[in-house]
Amino acid sequence: MNPYNEIKHTKGFIFNIQRFSIHDGPGARTAVFFKGCNLRCVWCHNPESIEFKPALEFYPQKCIGCGQCFTVCPTGAHIIMRFGENGEPRHVIDRKKCTRCLKCTETCYSGALAGVGREVTAEYVVESVKSDLPYYERSDGGVTITGGECMVQPDFLYAVLAGCKESGIHTAIDTAGNVPWDYFERILPLADMFLYDIKAASPEAHERLTGAENTRIIENLRRLCKSGRRVWIRVPYVPGFNDGELTGIADLLADISDEAARAGHKNALELVEVLPYHKLGVSKYEALDINDPTEGVEPPSDTEINRAVELLCSKGLNARKS
Ligand code: SF4
Ligand code: SF4
Repeated sequence: MNPYNEIKHTKGFIFNIQRFSIHDGPGARTAVFFKGCNLRCVWCHNPESIEFKPALEFYPQKCIGCGQCFTVCPTGAHIIMRFGENGEPRHVIDRKKCTRCLKCTETCYSGALAGVGREVTAEYVVESVKSDLPYYERSDGGVTITGGECMVQPDFLYAVLAGCKESGIHTAIDTAGNVPWDYFERILPLADMFLYDIKAASPEAHERLTGAENTRIIENLRRLCKSGRRVWIRVPYVPGFNDGELTGIADLLADISDEAARAGHKNALELVEVLPYHKLGVSKYEALDINDPTEGVEPPSDTEINRAVELLCSKGLNARKS
């Protein structure tokens, strides 16, 4: 019996399938974004991905005032509030009342309301990914499963990977690695490569910046590099947050690379990419009505990024700007 056939109806939460991505591993790729994450990085540019349930985004500038959402909302979460000295009326969502049923998004034709996240089967994902097979073959691309944190939906991830491998599709996993090693072991036969986030070197800084310390994350990376899988490291560069960690990160990665080489896996850390902080997530924080912890932070300059890349290269690592 084909194992994928047995598990293709496994369900999981995703919030996007993005075709023709050139920033998520080698070649042209389809990036599948799993919803839900077990870290809370202060600079997260996908805040809509964090929770394991749907999110409701509201873009008031697109609202045409048709009133449909007021009519359909079962909890009365759409309300008019008055602001300023003149009591200017404004349409807002009472987030405490909203149950994320997303009924209002179905009646909003202006695009002012958008639901993020839906439950789908592994088969749905695999069929979507398969539609671009010719592009993968031409570009040495494939599928990248990302998030959120894709490793925290292990059964769904396994089923999607099994379906992709059955169709001969190259598979990459984009993870922050904060899961038990067992989760990696289970998918190793189905994963061609890993994109692995390293956000800080010291456990204290990692906990302050992401909500979790990094002992398990680093141990998992050491094991992964000795497994023979291709590994690309991704280091976000966020001025004022983790830029003070770069020297520690460079030393840590050099040590892991040496250790893998001694175990017979020279160049296990194939590439280290530095990801400059960007402001594309700002409008999402507004649409979700949550505070942006990086408000006022500006993207790093080319000089800062080049210096970071040079530092990593000086430790014998193959580094570049993403
Ligand atoms: S998602 Fe549901 S509960 Fe929330 S505002 Fe829309 S209709 Fe109301
Ligand atoms: S349904 Fe959409 S366009 Fe109509 S009032 Fe609600 S948010 Fe505005």
